[in-house]
Amino acid sequence: MECFPAHGTAVRRRSTKVSVGGLMVGADAPIVVQSMTNTDTADIAATVAQVAALARAGSEVVRITVNNAEAAAAVPVIREQLDRRGVNVPLVGDFHFNGHRLLTQHPACAETLAKLRINPGNVGRGAKRDEQFATMIEFACRYDKPVRIGVNWGSLDQELLARLMDGNARLAQPKEAGVVMREALVTSALESALQAEALGLAHDRIILSCKVSGVQDLIAVYRDLASRCDYPLHLGLTEAGMGSKGIVASTAAMSVLLQEGIGDTIRVSLTPEPGGDRTREVIVAQEILQTMGLRSFTPLVIACPGCGRTTSTVFQELADRIQGYLRAQMPEWRGRYPGVENMHVAVMGCVVNGPGESKQANIGISLPGSGETPVAPVFVDGVKTVTLKGGNIAEEFQRIVDEYVHSRYGAAGETAAPATGAGGAR
Ligand code: SF4
Repeated sequence: MECFPAHGTAVRRRSTKVSVGGLMVGADAPIVVQSMTNTDTADIAATVAQVAALARAGSEVVRITVNNAEAAAAVPVIREQLDRRGVNVPLVGDFHFNGHRLLTQHPACAETLAKLRINPGNVGRGAKRDEQFATMIEFACRYDKPVRIGVNWGSLDQELLARLMDGNARLAQPKEAGVVMREALVTSALESALQAEALGLAHDRIILSCKVSGVQDLIAVYRDLASRCDYPLHLGLTEAGMGSKGIVASTAAMSVLLQEGIGDTIRVSLTPEPGGDRTREVIVAQEILQTMGLRSFTPLVIACPGCGRTTSTVFQELADRIQGYLRAQMPEWRGRYPGVENMHVAVMGCVVNGPGESKQANIGISLPGSGETPVAPVFVDGVKTVTLKGGNIAEEFQRIVDEYVHSRYGAAGETAAPATGAGGAR
């Protein structure tokens, strides 16, 4: 298999490269982080606000559902309002069942979107299926839009599955139903892609996905898909679930594939807690790529887990505060301080591993454990520079981080406020 060198340790599978609203996906382009809104698309204000929040968190493509006429009519308005706010993230329209009709009645929707997502299992039944699929591809061709053919096992093309099951039953040694199901997912994606090309969509305007909710199934399906085509692949574990379960399952599945060079865009399909923040899925996707060494998005905070040697919550609060602070600065820092996303900051709980880990980071602080002298040495590029004490350690440390970012990553000639030790720097 011919491969591209990867950005990190993995070797990327060779694929075509697809432009999604000017953002390149596939081949040697960085692996793209995507997300999806959960607002009613017809609620323009709520959708604009959520797309802007997802983009600000780092989502490079945002998908919105286009499920009815009101949603289709809202798409151009949403695009216009985002542009006016300076949010130029590409929007992808998610179509099911009635996409052919919505695009026909609202061509401005197709014109506005950067990509169409078509689920071949939800296009139509019988003879209508091909006709309705062709209508959607025709709009993609007319407005030169790429298409993601997104298969999902919860909405797998039942006629295709029945065909493969019948063929399997006639074999001398039939395969297990799960194997046939996985074959049906991959076949649905590949046959639909060939059909789209036969209808005039260019080979390099197609991205594929085959989402399932089981970790081992996802790995098996994508390995198979990757070996049978050179389209860029969008990775995601569908219905990953809530909280830690959703994060762990998505990470387990995607990291195996990413390590094998499979995956050109990713989405983490987390179910938010009631009232939870939708941007969490963006942060998790970024953290998967960054901890694997595939891309960098935000300075990493290394923190010890804590143990009986430090019963105070000070280091936990400081780690949390610094992590939140660094992430909040990134929309501004990204342009102003190139390379800052590669910075490592260590926040450690006591003298056992504190100085050692802090010396390995760009900046590190070793807080006092139980019974230790209440001082916190700070290390910058491996050298102890100050020792903080008193009640303002968090503020002092944040100032030191700011100063470091400014001097290390800022344009030559910029100066920063000095990090003085009102809390006891020496
Ligand atoms: S650095 Fe200290 S407080 Fe943190 S886990 Fe290690 S021994 Fe415990």
